[in-house]
Amino acid sequence: MLLLNHFIDGAWYKDPSELPLDIENPATGEVYGQLYSASAKTVDHAYQAATAAFSKWSHLPAAERGDWLRKLADGIEARFDEFVQAESRDAGKPHSVSSTVDIPRAMANLRFFADAATQFASESHTTAAGGINFTMRHPLGPVACISPWNLPLYLFTWKIAPALAMGNTVVAKPSEITPVTAYLLADVAREIGFPKGVLNIVHGGGMPTGEAIVNHPSVKAVSFTGGTATGKRIASTLAPRLVKYSLELGGKNPVLIFDDCDLEAAVSMTARSSFSNSGQICLCGSRVYVQRGIYEKFKSRLIEKAGKLSIGAPDSAAQVGPLVSKAHLEKVKSYVDLAKEEGAEAIELGERLDSAAKEGYYMRPTILEGLRQNSRCVQEEIFGPVISLMPFDTEEEALELANDTVYGLSAVVWSSNINRCLRLSTHLQAGIVWVNTWMNRDLRTPFGGVGMSGYGREGGQEALRFFTETKNVCLEASK
Ligand code: NAD
Repeated sequence: MLLLNHFIDGAWYKDPSELPLDIENPATGEVYGQLYSASAKTVDHAYQAATAAFSKWSHLPAAERGDWLRKLADGIEARFDEFVQAESRDAGKPHSVSSTVDIPRAMANLRFFADAATQFASESHTTAAGGINFTMRHPLGPVACISPWNLPLYLFTWKIAPALAMGNTVVAKPSEITPVTAYLLADVAREIGFPKGVLNIVHGGGMPTGEAIVNHPSVKAVSFTGGTATGKRIASTLAPRLVKYSLELGGKNPVLIFDDCDLEAAVSMTARSSFSNSGQICLCGSRVYVQRGIYEKFKSRLIEKAGKLSIGAPDSAAQVGPLVSKAHLEKVKSYVDLAKEEGAEAIELGERLDSAAKEGYYMRPTILEGLRQNSRCVQEEIFGPVISLMPFDTEEEALELANDTVYGLSAVVWSSNINRCLRLSTHLQAGIVWVNTWMNRDLRTPFGGVGMSGYGREGGQEALRFFTETKNVCLEASK
């Protein structure tokens, strides 16, 4: 049985009075480990370590801090297979995904921000009299990074890397559902002698641990990725204290397929954007709208394409693994049941590879057809391998349907008409628009959503700025 301790002040830390939480393998339902849900006292210990370490860390040159981040990335690389297996066992993702997406991207995040911090520059503005204004950007102090289960190490490092690179110290919490790769990262930090107290990793659920992290008086900023309800709760805690926050939240992303698109490319990518990671990516397109003239053709090609997706255990050749937990599987299935009650047809796809995986939380990719736009299945985030498929006639109608949501994370447009693509890119209410592509990520670009999808942006300079306090200095030369 794997037992996860917290990592505080450069050492493992355990408080036997803390409540244990089981860690489960979603491919089998087997409990294979436990973590202890950090109490407010443990969280306080982590902040004390982060506060004590701040002065020294923040005064290191950016290049030296970058060297430490690169050492963390190298440490992951040296134990690559262990990280891949841990991520797949925790989250149920196929090894082919953990080994090509999650773990490489975690290393890339650390290396990218190691370099980015050394390239960071701030503004200057000359005064009328020939003096100068210049902007200083100071690290904040101890900051909190809280991440979800769907891309565990990928999103955990996406937050801690810019925070550390800019000279802050960190108290970080991975999801209690998928904590193991963050635990392994702590082990790498311990192995390489990462400066004590600079990176503290505590485990536990929203209650009591997440709440204690957000409520702590020492926290200078909170970077959060997770559900909209949790994000709103965090905002309501921090806003009265005027502590800054960045929230990356849920989505209900539209995919608009026009009759002048490259149909085969649109079909292939829509199969991916719908069902990758069993639809458990915040950027997955879950509302697919297709222009009426090609609707039937697109539908039959999508059914054919997604019908070939193989479903099975993460360590098999399967392309689709189980959902992350029993509770989540039940939630996703309840939406399919609701859709059927509302008269929709549920088209189930994919081929089950193995019979051994009976116990796990598997579900076939599903297309819901015949839903109304105001149906809960079209309006609410399902976060599973389930999409709605609906026709539209005109560009105006497509835009209206796409924007008819409280969310606004990403949107995808498939069309060969550049003017239309530009018009839609301007008017779609989303933080990210992809045209004739999907999940085409460049770490330098701003990342985040509008409306109920979030507040603030991550990525590149946006993340570096978020983790700093800005000060303008105005200097006039004496005559
Ligand atoms: P969640 O909100 O339940 O949990 C996210 C993290 O917050 C976990 O570490 C959890 O322990 C912690 N937490 C829970 N309650 C808390 C509280 N009161 N205070 C502080 N921390 C608390 O989300 P989840 O189920 O882990 O993740 C799925 C959600 O994340 C989906 O809605 C998905 O769209 C969203 N997501 C968004 C993005 C994005 O970039 N916009 C990326 C990935 C996932």
